[in-house]
Amino acid sequence: MMPDEMSRPLIRERGDGGARHLEASVSDPSTPVIGILGTGDFSRSLARRLVASGYQVVVGSRTPKRFVALFPEDVEVTTQLEAANQADLVFVAVYPEHHSTLVELKPALVGKVLVDVSNSLCINQNGPSNAELLADYFPESSVVKGFNTISAWTLQMGPRDGGRQVFLCGNSQKAKNTVKSVCHRMGFIPVDMGLLSSSLEIENMPLHLFPSWRFPVFCTSFLFVFFYLYNFLRDVLQPFVTEGKKVFYKMPIEIVNVTLPSVALVMLALVYLPGLLAAFAQLRSGTKYNRFPSWLDRWLTTRKQLGLCSFMCAVLHTIYSLCLPLRKSARFKLIAAAYKQVKSGVEDPWVDEEAWRMELYLSVGIMALGLLSLLAVTSLPSVANTINWREFSFIQSTLGYCALFMATAHTLLYGWNRAFDLKQYRFNMPPTFVLVLVLPFAVLLGRLALCVPCVAGRLRKIRRGWERSRHVCFTLPAEDCRNGLENVSNV
Ligand code: NAP
Repeated sequence: MMPDEMSRPLIRERGDGGARHLEASVSDPSTPVIGILGTGDFSRSLARRLVASGYQVVVGSRTPKRFVALFPEDVEVTTQLEAANQADLVFVAVYPEHHSTLVELKPALVGKVLVDVSNSLCINQNGPSNAELLADYFPESSVVKGFNTISAWTLQMGPRDGGRQVFLCGNSQKAKNTVKSVCHRMGFIPVDMGLLSSSLEIENMPLHLFPSWRFPVFCTSFLFVFFYLYNFLRDVLQPFVTEGKKVFYKMPIEIVNVTLPSVALVMLALVYLPGLLAAFAQLRSGTKYNRFPSWLDRWLTTRKQLGLCSFMCAVLHTIYSLCLPLRKSARFKLIAAAYKQVKSGVEDPWVDEEAWRMELYLSVGIMALGLLSLLAVTSLPSVANTINWREFSFIQSTLGYCALFMATAHTLLYGWNRAFDLKQYRFNMPPTFVLVLVLPFAVLLGRLALCVPCVAGRLRKIRRGWERSRHVCFTLPAEDCRNGLENVSNV
């Protein structure tokens, strides 16, 4: 290729001089002419992407002269009727409220594929969908729903910089295949969602606001507020009320830094608790074919998000802890302690037990954070897709329990023997770590109970289809023949 050919832009803006038709569309007469109704943001981005993919594009507008300058030179901007007549496949890039204004194009669109890209303002639970209404307006055209989950920005930047999947549905397989080939040529991956009745689901997709994160975020926020207030009462308000000591400076860092690990550990226990409850429910009912209660089902499906919230709190705790020595208050305390030491005449302040406790406390904490990071990384779809189910369950379940054990040990080492010190029960409230440890201990003990051979054996049988009520007798393959899929650790 000649250097001047390389420097030539792929899409020419209007006024660049000279008409240029894309080679692909000229050389391949089977390439459909694509029409777009509407000249808004979506239409402009789509037209550019289509032209760059080698399509001949004709845009239909109510006022073509007004918007012609906004489109590249290779795009023909004309009236809606003219565009509908010329095109083989038409993208309807107007708001659904205005679909009815297009009915006069009905004769021109007979037998053609209409792609409805519209989104609604709010989630529509009951239907009909915009695409179904459009299909009612144009019964002699084949309506395909799609591209509504792709933003104008993604279209403009190309699929490399945005989502690659395009969800499609429609009643005509031929029409869907035509749209699929357009998707492929633009670099997107079409995902066939079936008949047009799925269009409601596709239309609702971009309107959901973190549906799977609501419960985990609520739990994290609730636990944070609870533990923050608890720590505030014990560590700030109690000294103020009983001794008149003003330690309100502790509120932004110290109290937050005791609250964060409390939330992280309880959240981590909440990741493993529903699996245990499910296992005990199966043992109790003697079958795996009974449905779990819906709250347990929902809880089981949010374990990944609960784990990621726990990880975020643990990371924040680490950063806060690293910043502790930087505070002025920490320096004042250090100097005051040294001064007190000198005044009291104690020569060697070394306490062996304290030194050991601190070393172990930090080491176990770092290990727990390392394991949590591994769990977080493997929960990313791109990483999870590269490992098989057994590897995934080993990391998420076995290493996850190791992380829970390490984090529990970290908290125990932090508390040490203070649980037995009556002075620590300020306002008759037990130290925070005592409260925090209840749930992780329960989960770890529950997990140990499932490791008892007779319990583990029964659970394994249940997971392979054995039912107590039917007395179906079979023996499981030997230990070394199992593939790990029915491993009871996978709870
Ligand atoms: P827009 O910028 O407001 O453009 C809408 C276009 O509709 C107008 O430019 C207008 O073009 C045309 N139109 C036709 N009949 C109309 C009428 N009776 N009244 C008003 N306008 C009429 O909107 P947009 O952002 O491009 O969105 C267009 C469609 O794409 C919507 O259904 C939207 O839900 C969907 N969508 C948009 C995005 C996005 O990122 N923007 C993403 C996904 C889906 P003329 O004046 O030239 O006729």
